[in-house]
Amino acid sequence: MSDNKRLRIAMQKKGRLTKECSELLKQCGVKINWNEQRLIAYAENMPIEILRVRDDDIPGLIFDGVVDLGIIGENVLEEEELGRLAAGEAVAYKKLRQFDFGGCRLSLAIDRDRAYRNVQDFTNATIATSYPNLLKRYMKEQDVPCKSILLNGSVEVAPSAGLADAICDLVSSGATLEANGLREVEVIYQSKACLIQRAEPLDADKQALVDKLLTRIQGISQARE
Ligand code: ATP
Ligand code: ZN
Repeated sequence: MSDNKRLRIAMQKKGRLTKECSELLKQCGVKINWNEQRLIAYAENMPIEILRVRDDDIPGLIFDGVVDLGIIGENVLEEEELGRLAAGEAVAYKKLRQFDFGGCRLSLAIDRDRAYRNVQDFTNATIATSYPNLLKRYMKEQDVPCKSILLNGSVEVAPSAGLADAICDLVSSGATLEANGLREVEVIYQSKACLIQRAEPLDADKQALVDKLLTRIQGISQARE
């Protein structure tokens, strides 16, 4: 077991959020001994440990109170939250702030050559996605009945492979969609990375450290403006 006096922060081990997360910690003055192989990295100068995991695991670690802070895309956070709520589980956490990195949108896309008028065109469609809960919520709001199929990778090839009529996937530049002959027709969710804290109160020392980090983060973003 690790020393529970350390503030435990979860971040993505390897992916689109990793560079900016480690940059952010550095700018906050947290000096970390990174070891590529290790799950946990320790700060030299503060009672902090960094848990490096798949981004999908971060919301659950926070909801379950296993880590104190997490940096995660709002898309993954809300998808996981909706999933737990749908399963009848309670979900609690605090969102401390939104960052200006990790920006992307979750969009519906169809075959480039297909005609499109509005979201009603998805009535009874089969849509491939890694975000079934965000998709379901949106389609319910729009009052459009449809079916989703869960794919955790290669979502963009589902229409050409004949698995689905459309996709609901993350987009930033649109290059991936274009490369697969797809056209973005509706944005259903806008996302950025955010900082979350577990709901259960931290002891005073840990909370003071969180407040200090937050003040530093605030300073960094003000300096950028
Ligand atoms: P992991 O191995 O940790 O599960 P992953 O492949 O699920 O990684 P990444 O592709 O690294 O995840 O994306 C992490 C997060 O980065 C996304 O959930 C989203 O919040 C954000 N993001 C920003 N731009 C994009 C994009 N163009 N495509 C996908 N995600 C993006
Ligand atoms: Zn992931």
